[in-house]
Amino acid sequence: MKPLAVNLRQLETQSVQLTGEAPPEVLEIESLDDLIEVVGPFRYDLHVQLNGDALLVQGRMELGLRCTCARCLRPFDRPVQLEGWAGMADLEGEESLQSQGDWVDLAPLLRDDVALAFPQHPLCDDSCGGLVPPGQDSASEADGGSRGEAFSSEWSVLDRLKL
Ligand SMILES: [Zn+2]
Repeated sequence: MKPLAVNLRQLETQSVQLTGEAPPEVLEIESLDDLIEVVGPFRYDLHVQLNGDALLVQGRMELGLRCTCARCLRPFDRPVQLEGWAGMADLEGEESLQSQGDWVDLAPLLRDDVALAFPQHPLCDDSCGGLVPPGQDSASEADGGSRGEAFSSEWSVLDRLKL
C-alpha cells in the first residue's frame, strides 16, 4: 500500500494521522527548474478527516531539494517546508482523487502545493554576491560612493544579469 493512502472506511468513524518519511517518488513530483533537483526525503505529519464527500487534510510537509544558486551557481541543500498547510479534495466528481477499493492516495493533492512552494529563484544566501567576473575586483564596485553599498551591489547584480 502506498504510504500516502488513507482508508475511507476508517475515516468514516475516525480521523487519521499520517506521519512518516518516504522517498520523494511517492509524490511523483518533478522539478521543472534546472536549478532545483528533488532529492528527498519527503516528511509529513498530516491530519486527515472526512468532510461530507471531501477529504480535509491539514498539517506539515517537508521535501528535500538540492538547489543551484541562481547567482553564484553553487549547489546547496534546502528543504521546502509547508507549515500549517491545509488542503481539500473531493471524493466524487471529475476532480476527485483516485480510489482503489477503500483506499485513496493523497499524493496528487499534496504534490501541487509542494511544487508551488519551490523557490522561484534559489539563492545560497540572500546576500550572495554572485560570480565575480574576471578582471572586475571589489574596488570598481565601490564606485557607488555615498549611495551605500547595498544599493550599488544590487545594481552590479542587475548588470551581470544583462550579460
Ligand atoms: Zn550564491
